[in-house]
Amino acid sequence: MALPTVHLRDLSDSGLDLEPVVDAAWLGEVLAGTELAPAADPAGTLRVRLDKAGDGDGAVVLNVRGSVLVRGTCVRCLEPIEIPISCTTSLLLEPATSARAKATKAGQEYELTAEELDLDVYHDEKIELSQWVREQILVEVPAHPAHEDCAPPAVAGGNKPGPDPRWAALEKFKTKKEL
Ligand SMILES: [Zn+2]
Repeated sequence: MALPTVHLRDLSDSGLDLEPVVDAAWLGEVLAGTELAPAADPAGTLRVRLDKAGDGDGAVVLNVRGSVLVRGTCVRCLEPIEIPISCTTSLLLEPATSARAKATKAGQEYELTAEELDLDVYHDEKIELSQWVREQILVEVPAHPAHEDCAPPAVAGGNKPGPDPRWAALEKFKTKKEL
């Protein structure tokens, strides 16, 4: 079963708290195409908070906290591994009809400020939690799930020492910056 859909009219000025249960059937659909599957049913319970964002133009702040438990195969030992996937996210949602959303959609130049980076739109006055939670799960899906204490597999060609792992984070930063 998909997560609840919240209609804008059901959102009072004091906000709305929900605790949707993520069942295995729905999570299984989300994970289709990945090498992961739900590890339990339900796979988790989330805490969702919705608030109107001030100036009454329909903007809504969505906060999701929690995680779901998935099962996959460890890339190092090839044994099963269970991993929690974080669903935690904060988004500013605007109605698709708002001028700003229209401008963004039309591809007009619109400079996003840091605060607006996680801006998204919703349609028909309905906020489908499934949509945002699905996106968040897919962002968090690990490409190479591995047990924390699993040694990396032996590499053909000997034990040539690689770069100090502490430099890896910097390398990533460097690549990003050069893009
Ligand atoms: Zn392992």
